[in-house]
Amino acid sequence: MTVFGLFGNLCKMSHRNNDIDPPVCLTIAGLDPSGGAGIVADIKTFTAHDCFAAAVVSSVTFQNTTGVFGAVHQTADSVRRQAEPIFEDYTVVAAKTGMLPTREIIEESAAIFRKWGSRNLVVDPVVRSTSGFDLIDDAALKSLIDTLFPMAALVTPNIPEAERIAGISISSKEDVELAAEKIQSMGARNVLIKGGHFDVDDGVTKLAIDHLFEGSQLTVLQENYIDTTATHGTGCTLAAAITANLALGLDLNESVREAKTFVTNAIRNATSLGKGHSPLNIG
Ligand code: PLP
Repeated sequence: MTVFGLFGNLCKMSHRNNDIDPPVCLTIAGLDPSGGAGIVADIKTFTAHDCFAAAVVSSVTFQNTTGVFGAVHQTADSVRRQAEPIFEDYTVVAAKTGMLPTREIIEESAAIFRKWGSRNLVVDPVVRSTSGFDLIDDAALKSLIDTLFPMAALVTPNIPEAERIAGISISSKEDVELAAEKIQSMGARNVLIKGGHFDVDDGVTKLAIDHLFEGSQLTVLQENYIDTTATHGTGCTLAAAITANLALGLDLNESVREAKTFVTNAIRNATSLGKGHSPLNIG
């Protein structure tokens, strides 16, 4: 073997044997072609956390910062044929689901996680866009609750999503606790009820409050409320940041706390792109 051949082989070996491979995070979610929400936000968030992003498209939506105008959903077959080669090739350390619009896609996603494992699965129960477009139908939401909630390390509804899932209206901390109890009784072990839509005035500053229920243990997370319309993709970004943190080995509580800080900074530094709700600045 020539010196060059030996050098080439050593390079290949050091590449194959390096211990700096980033953890792989997978998202199964909708494509927002304008880049603010869905899988584009997830990919950017995974990458910002030094994780390697893999993405399965559940639906191609038509939207920009002013609204969602429609969608063409994928089939279960398409979702399976996107996901299987990823799992056959990579070790997926953590995964999240976002917009899963149909029952067949939800059942297929559950089958994929049942087959390949779902230790660090974050389920973001995406129901409706800020602009009011329904991203899931009733039958699919029931299937999401029945199949994916029990598999999830964390379920992350915002207040309107928690209201729809729990079937109650939420206007106080007691309501949040009741909603979490109901969602946990549906099979979710741990629930983060996101308070972007539930801002409490402490007399001095407005606060954005999230409630994390790990079993019966409650952690209240609060940040100063940022008065802005630049919030497109906030829910996706938070769930993706939690997923990345779990992949990096943080425990659930640390993962959520770090993710809340990440999202707050991304809102604080948000872009002013577009004519509607501008996307966050994920980096
Ligand atoms: N589009 C897709 C594909 C999404 O996944 C989501 C939310 O998860 C949205 C739109 C809605 O985002 P927002 O309510 O921040 O506009």
